[in-house]
Amino acid sequence: MIPGPFSYHRPQTLADAVKLLSTLGDEARPLAGGHSLVPMMKLRLATPAHLVDLHGIDGLKGVRHDGNKIVIGAMTTQHELLASGEIAKSLPILHETALLIADPQVRYRGTIGGNVANGDPGNDMPALMLTLGASYRLEGPSGGRDIAASEFYQGAYFTALEPGEILSSVSIPVPAAGHGYAYEKLKRKVGDYATAAAAVMLTMAGGKVATCAIGLTNLHETPLLAADAAKAVIGSSLDSATLKKAASAAEAIMSPAADARGPIEYRKHVGGIMVMRALQRAASRAG
Ligand SMILES: Cc1cc2nc3c(=O)[nH]c(=O)nc-3n(C[C@H](O)[C@H](O)[C@H](O)COP(=O)(O)OP(=O)(O)OC[C@H]3O[C@@H](n4cnc5c(N)ncnc54)[C@H](O)[C@@H]3O)c2cc1C
Repeated sequence: MIPGPFSYHRPQTLADAVKLLSTLGDEARPLAGGHSLVPMMKLRLATPAHLVDLHGIDGLKGVRHDGNKIVIGAMTTQHELLASGEIAKSLPILHETALLIADPQVRYRGTIGGNVANGDPGNDMPALMLTLGASYRLEGPSGGRDIAASEFYQGAYFTALEPGEILSSVSIPVPAAGHGYAYEKLKRKVGDYATAAAAVMLTMAGGKVATCAIGLTNLHETPLLAADAAKAVIGSSLDSATLKKAASAAEAIMSPAADARGPIEYRKHVGGIMVMRALQRAASRAG
């Protein structure tokens, strides 16, 4: 399939990119790795008249510590996340999740900024960002602002990004030492989007769960934080009755689409199983 005609722009600064996007209006889209946008253009599901390529802008890449946060530039690729010693040490769940995205070819080009800004319920990073309590830095025509990941997703492909805004970085609070983590993803084959996936971050004290956050991917039109499911496991040693209670609390908020990945009931059922598996694996890793 061949995309419709478009003009290509390659600004050298973030300010120029914002200016271009604001001037060109609705007809313009930022281009990051292109691994979601270009397939949509080839299918003519997206027909932007202008692409504003972010690759020429310095300072949009890299992983750094800023106080008790890890800040990741939007144009950092999934491959670069996997290669980062800092991520492996401080945020191993991000490493685990990045490794479950597609295949090396996609990961060499696809960026964290594109993955979280896209708004596709099938993207893996958004639910993880909710689980980690991340926030996004947005730069726009009237300046910069920070927004919590939990307030960013408003519907399928519908986010809090205002016209002309670019997501420049993702900030993630450094998790507690000794935390347990797991990202469990069921897919039909290697390289596929999730049929259902769950992210779990927890801490244990005296053999019982002290804190817990659970995120869900592709089980609703937006990523979900399963707050009641997380509450259900606090103070427990994750016995099988508690695991089942957490799974049904999570299933209660799921409303996946019925599609080639299966009917609604099946996807909710396996979503609950992903929650139980992620809880067990996270607990086994907690110090
Ligand atoms: C075969 C295949 C399998 C895949 N499997 C998975 C998978 O299992 N899990 C998964 O999570 N993803 C998967 N993906 C998607 C992949 O991870 C994409 O790279 C990612 O979703 C988008 O990142 P990108 O950098 O390619 O963004 P692009 O495709 O360039 O952009 C995506 C959208 O976000 C906007 N955008 C991009 N960057 C910014 C920014 N900084 N600020 C504001 N808006 C921005 C663009 O305008 C566009 O609307 C797959 C892709 C392919 C081709």
